[in-house]
Amino acid sequence: MPDSGDQKRRIAIIGSGFSGLCLAIQLKKAGIESFTIFEKSDRLGGTWRDNTYPGAACDVPAFSYCFSFEQKTDWSRKWSPQAEIRDYMDHCARKHDIVRHIRFGTEITGARFDEREGVWHLRTAADEEITAEVLVSAVGQLNRPLLPNLLPDLKLAQSRDEPRPQKQADQERRETRIGRAERNVGENVQHLERFPEPVQRI
Ligand SMILES: Cc1cc2nc3c(=O)[nH]c(=O)nc-3n(C[C@H](O)[C@H](O)[C@H](O)COP(=O)(O)OP(=O)(O)OC[C@H]3O[C@@H](n4cnc5c(N)ncnc54)[C@H](O)[C@@H]3O)c2cc1C
Repeated sequence: MPDSGDQKRRIAIIGSGFSGLCLAIQLKKAGIESFTIFEKSDRLGGTWRDNTYPGAACDVPAFSYCFSFEQKTDWSRKWSPQAEIRDYMDHCARKHDIVRHIRFGTEITGARFDEREGVWHLRTAADEEITAEVLVSAVGQLNRPLLPNLLPDLKLAQSRDEPRPQKQADQERRETRIGRAERNVGENVQHLERFPEPVQRI
């Protein structure tokens, strides 16, 4: 059991991807409850929440891409699909009672350590100040994609970093794909129209 000092220390974890989730579960296992995960999005999962492109899946065998303390043996495929990994993370969070420790929709925009007080002063995007004795950054390194400016009409590219409800994000992705499909069909039809006899025979 931790000493009472551990219980008093406020622990701020930034990010609810695999890293933040793993730390939270280990803290729980150590009997420490005084932690909060700050998550800018409205759902946990990090990489596996955000990347929903067709065919998104893990590039290592599924059995090795899960927590050692929470093995999953019924993956539908050897290379686990994105949604299944995200659901697995939801399951882990629920099973280990982590969800109530997560403050969703809270982006941390700054952190300053006050040596005199011995505390971190965190600042949120909503200009709230939060103090904590311990700060852990679990923000990942791939959650701010740098997309080339090749498709100016791809609104998703600009808005990717803004917190959006999952439903809206899904809708945007769908519309983007539909838009692309329409353009492709349009281009192909023009192309076919220009084809002479041989194509018409096909
Ligand atoms: C497209 C893609 C495919 C990948 N495929 C594989 C794979 O097949 N195999 C593999 O081993 N690895 C893969 N990775 C790497 C993957 O990112 C890591 O395996 C792992 O999921 C990273 O977890 P994480 O918790 O460190 O970061 P993330 O999953 O990025 O989680 C970080 C979390 O922090 C939140 N956050 C960030 N900044 C803030 C802030 N300022 N305030 C509040 N919240 C914040 C984010 O919203 C996010 O939820 C892939 C990554 C990408 C992008």
